[in-house]
Amino acid sequence: MEAPNAPQQTDVSDIGEFGLIAVMRDTLGPSSDDDLVSGIGDDTAVYRVGNGRVHLLTTDALTEGIHFDRAFMPMEHLGFKALSVNVSDVVAMNAAPRYATVTIGLSQNVTVEMVETIYEGVREACDAYDLTVVGGDTTSAHALSLSVTVVGEADEDAVVHRSGAQVGDKLCVTGDVGASYAGLKVLARNRRRMEEQGEDFQPSLDPYSYVIRRHLAPPAQLKTVRDWAAASVQPHALIDVSDGVASEVHHVCEASDVGAQLYEPALPIDPETRNTATDFGDDVSVYALFGGEDYELIFTIPEEGLDGIDPQSYTVIGDIVEPDDPEYPVLLQRADGENVPLQPGGFDHFDEDA
Ligand code: ADP
Ligand code: MG
Repeated sequence: MEAPNAPQQTDVSDIGEFGLIAVMRDTLGPSSDDDLVSGIGDDTAVYRVGNGRVHLLTTDALTEGIHFDRAFMPMEHLGFKALSVNVSDVVAMNAAPRYATVTIGLSQNVTVEMVETIYEGVREACDAYDLTVVGGDTTSAHALSLSVTVVGEADEDAVVHRSGAQVGDKLCVTGDVGASYAGLKVLARNRRRMEEQGEDFQPSLDPYSYVIRRHLAPPAQLKTVRDWAAASVQPHALIDVSDGVASEVHHVCEASDVGAQLYEPALPIDPETRNTATDFGDDVSVYALFGGEDYELIFTIPEEGLDGIDPQSYTVIGDIVEPDDPEYPVLLQRADGENVPLQPGGFDHFDEDA
């Protein structure tokens, strides 16, 4: 039994990941560093290095059993993805990556050949994103993990934050969403079947090759921000889709103090993602809105700003609006016309039984 005067302990699940990050930020207190443009709370930290230039700094880890299952994550893809998810955060500030460090946690059953293959994926990402691995750390661990830090560079006035969305902006997303989650569902089902059927199980990957690839080796949208720079296009607000469209739109609304009206039929969804959802008897909008790990970009921009962008490269999925009810800043007009409040992690029918 706990001593009567033991300090109260709170489960992390009571406040969630973002609540916990707020606790960390409050514990650290505010920074008095004048060169810091943004710290905790955006896709990367941004700080001035002189001559109008800034550096962008971000770190993200992939851990076995949490972020990937070794049974279906090829080691080469693991190396590539660990870099991609970090590059995606730099891109989400409208900047380009330069240097990376890679820390690998080795569990007992990891071989030299596996590490070599992981690093082939790392090298592939370095080529794809024009960045250089300049160091890292190697440690024993209970689970295989890759923790990557990436530094990027930009002109300070080119950087785009989550907080710049303005009422009247169009809310847009690049590429398509929901595919990564569809891929994860297929891979998890294959794993279950393999456990049930053993050696006899022959997974049919063909109808699912796009969604599986989107889950295992998602590309970061560096080309998009390069194209924007070449066309002198600069969105008002920008974020990448790591946790899901609904969650990211909430982050933009919260940081920008605005609301959003989303349109469900507008969500860009690949036919293979739709077929996968049909296979599983799922609502494909759930994949698109809450699935996450798409690493596409959500951006807000005045309508005339869209003129400079290749129309094939993005979809308008909503509008930035004045929120009706600050407690529910994001509304989703569903396919049947009903307008429902959207929560970061699910639909909200808050008023129905009230
Ligand atoms: P993203 O999904 O864009 O990688 P996260 O949701 O992981 O961002 O993190 C949100 C913000 O909180 C970021 O600014 C990140 O740097 C910060 N953050 C996350 N974990 C920690 C931590 N352990 N200590 C300090 N800051 C953190
Ligand atoms: Mg991010």
